Amino acid sequence: MKVRSLLILGALFCFGGSAMAADCEATVESNDAMQFIQKEITVSKSCETFTVKLAHIGVLPKTVMGHNLVITKADDINPVATEGMTAGVENSYVKAGDTRVIAKSDVIGGGETTSVTFNVKDFQDGVTYGYFCSFPGHFAVMRGTFIVK
Ligand code: ZN
Repeated sequence: MKVRSLLILGALFCFGGSAMAADCEATVESNDAMQFIQKEITVSKSCETFTVKLAHIGVLPKTVMGHNLVITKADDINPVATEGMTAGVENSYVKAGDTRVIAKSDVIGGGETTSVTFNVKDFQDGVTYGYFCSFPGHFAVMRGTFIVK
C-alpha cells in the first residue's frame, strides 16, 4: 500500500505543475458500521482529472460489509443503486453500461483500499452530484455530496 501511495504522489508531483496547483485527490474512509466517514468531496475545476481513494478501515470481508464509491448526479443515486443491486460484486453492483455512472470503484473489504480516477470536465455546471456505496442495502446511508467548483 505504501509503495502504491508513493507512486501516486510521485505521479502527481511530476504532472501536477506548480506547488500552487489544486489538490486533485481526496480520501474517503468507510467502516464496519456501514458509514462513509467523509460526507463531502470538493473537486476543483482546475483539475483535469481527479482521484478518490477509498479506504475500508474495518475488518469485515467484502461479502459481508463490502464498500465501493460510485459517482452520479444526486438525482440518479436512488435509481442507479436500486437497479445495480443484482449486478453482482464483479460489476461493483452497478448495471452494465449504465451511462448515469460517472465513475465507480471496485468493491473492497476490511483493511483494503482502492481508488477511482475520472475526468473533471465530465461534470456539468449547475448540477448537483453525489457519491454512494452500491453494495446492496448500503446506499440509503452511505452517501455524500460531490461538489465541483
Ligand atoms: Zn458499503
